[in-house]
Amino acid sequence: APASLLPARSAQTSPHPRSGGWQARVMSNVNAISCPKEEILRRLQRETTCSSCCSALRVMIQRPVRELNLLDSFVSHEDETGYVLKEDLSSQSALEDACAKFPLQEWLKNCQPLKRDKRCPMHTNSRHIFNSADLWEDMWAEMSSSQKTCICTVNAEELHDKLWQHCTDKHHLCKDCRNNVMWAFDKLTKKDLPPVGSEAEQEAELASLQAYFDVDKSKEGSICVHAPALPTILYHYEDTLAEESENSSKGRHAPTRQAGLSEMLCVVGRLLLRKVLTSYQSSLEEEQNQQLLLRLLLSHFHE
Ligand SMILES: [Zn+2]
Ligand SMILES: [Zn+2]
Repeated sequence: APASLLPARSAQTSPHPRSGGWQARVMSNVNAISCPKEEILRRLQRETTCSSCCSALRVMIQRPVRELNLLDSFVSHEDETGYVLKEDLSSQSALEDACAKFPLQEWLKNCQPLKRDKRCPMHTNSRHIFNSADLWEDMWAEMSSSQKTCICTVNAEELHDKLWQHCTDKHHLCKDCRNNVMWAFDKLTKKDLPPVGSEAEQEAELASLQAYFDVDKSKEGSICVHAPALPTILYHYEDTLAEESENSSKGRHAPTRQAGLSEMLCVVGRLLLRKVLTSYQSSLEEEQNQQLLLRLLLSHFHE
């Protein structure tokens, strides 16, 4: 048989890959199938009673397909007809396989509120995520390196405010101690501070900072914590909290710059802990929402 009559799939082994591309394009014009976004929202409304799932998906369908990695592996692009499925889903059997792999009904169990809740378990939990603080190690272990980097990039202004609260309202440090705490922050955000202390002291202080922070990458707007140092910082924060509850009557001091750094690490630890928890929760939500979106989309072709 002439090569042009072979099915598109065998073109992969063809010595002329261009002909495969041409066939595929023709097929896509003939068989392109799409699902309007309004149809997905209609199904969503019908299938789940969790108001957070509904609002999350309304926001999600506004995002570019490229950002939604699960959807991106099934959808080629979007146009005025809605989400256009990829060419390799244009046959009935391929589509049925995909629907079998991502069934809607199974997944909907995750998205339904339990008993008298208004939201599904996932979205109910997001309001109590700070109660799961003792699970941060497991969460951290599951994270991707880009997620970790994002957590470890701390907004300098936010940290400054938290440090100031820590030194004043929270622990009422005297001016000298406060200066020692703020010294570490200034060292990270401003490159040219007048040197204080002996050369050996300065070297030791810089080495301490560098153990936790990427001093060169940190600048005015953000402060970069070394990702591998995060667990140490969080243990330090937890230890300090435990000590604090034991000797609550003792006044708090930071008599040296090293002690100031230790105080700053507590504040950084608290901030990082919150970021680990919220980032973990939002990645779980992202996963559940993307699954729901894909399954709603596929169900449009299945019924
Ligand atoms: Zn929900
Ligand atoms: Zn003091």
